[in-house]
Amino acid sequence: KNGNPVAENFQVEEVNLPDNINEGQVQVRTLYLSVDPYMRCRMNEDTGTDYIMPWQLSQVVDGGGVGIIEESKHKNFTKGDFVTCFNWPWQTKVILDGNSLEKVDPQLVDGHLSYFLGAIGMPGLTSLIGVQEKGHITAGSNQTMVVSGAAGACGSLAGQIGHLMGCSRVVGICGTHEKCLFLTSELGFDAAINYKKENVAERLRELCPAGVDVYFDNVGGDISDTVISQMNQNSHIILCGQISQYNKDVPYPPPLPPAVEAIRKEKNITRERFLVFNYKDKFESGILQLSQWFKEGKLKIKETMINGLENMGAAFQSMMTGGNTGKQIVCISEETSLKSL
Ligand code: NAP
Repeated sequence: KNGNPVAENFQVEEVNLPDNINEGQVQVRTLYLSVDPYMRCRMNEDTGTDYIMPWQLSQVVDGGGVGIIEESKHKNFTKGDFVTCFNWPWQTKVILDGNSLEKVDPQLVDGHLSYFLGAIGMPGLTSLIGVQEKGHITAGSNQTMVVSGAAGACGSLAGQIGHLMGCSRVVGICGTHEKCLFLTSELGFDAAINYKKENVAERLRELCPAGVDVYFDNVGGDISDTVISQMNQNSHIILCGQISQYNKDVPYPPPLPPAVEAIRKEKNITRERFLVFNYKDKFESGILQLSQWFKEGKLKIKETMINGLENMGAAFQSMMTGGNTGKQIVCISEETSLKSL
């Protein structure tokens, strides 16, 4: 419950798959696997939520994955189809119930299948739907948005979406100088703050002279307390995540310190719980919107790629400690047939 996850929490084992698959099953080759902050909660006996189950000791762990069908005994799939699911076992090859899989169209991502685990997948939907549902952005009304965890998978998209939806100013907060430069020079953020080196309160006062209207919160803790203290009357927090608290035994979402909660109440700042899986009816149109923005060059997508199943634990540890810019992905095997797309 308390403690930082490390690569040594995971081990690799070699086993043989059964020779035959049963009716309704498919055999797939894994192409890409995702490591995500919510997985830290799956390392606790009680995940604190009912939509994710704890990983079991000595069992294969699972998460978001993309792969290609090698053999199918399921009516919906044929060899060569690309598929994804949220409970993909961390295996190089796997036999799955076809009903657990969803087909994906490589055209939506111009052949970059790993994007289905990031910008054109769950994190992208989180950013888009989070901003739409909880941001209360009105184009032309001069709103300032602040994003914490701004250089990560959700944050890097949320800031761009803030601009696309009409915020006049977007300021990111992240953990290195290089990430700050990436936000301002490549993603169009108006400014960025390195929370490890700069005084966040002072810099926010300089960079957000009209206060903060929308706060996309990925991190919680001291950073968020500082941002919330500078938010305007009737402004809105998009409570996406609280990664600074995930290695501690605290409830989700963690309550704000009393002084910050008093400011929140006095200024009528909304801070409603947000979970992307509560908006499944918006997934299809959301994926199309994200794909369209990507193809039009309006949404820049960044990934940090590590190779090899044996490096899943290292990739997870690295993402949890800021080693990634954009979405952290692990490439398990490459699919060469898509290079021409
Ligand atoms: P990510 O931002 O790509 O990766 C995590 C980042 O968090 C790291 O790169 C690191 O960047 C930052 N970080 C780690 N420890 C920190 C700390 N103590 N203080 C401040 N920053 C810290 O991960 P993601 O997948 O996009 O997820 C971002 C947040 O969204 C997480 O809180 C996650 O739980 C949440 N989420 C919520 C939903 C939902 O439905 N509500 C769905 C998906 C994700 P720095 O270098 O900047 O420190």
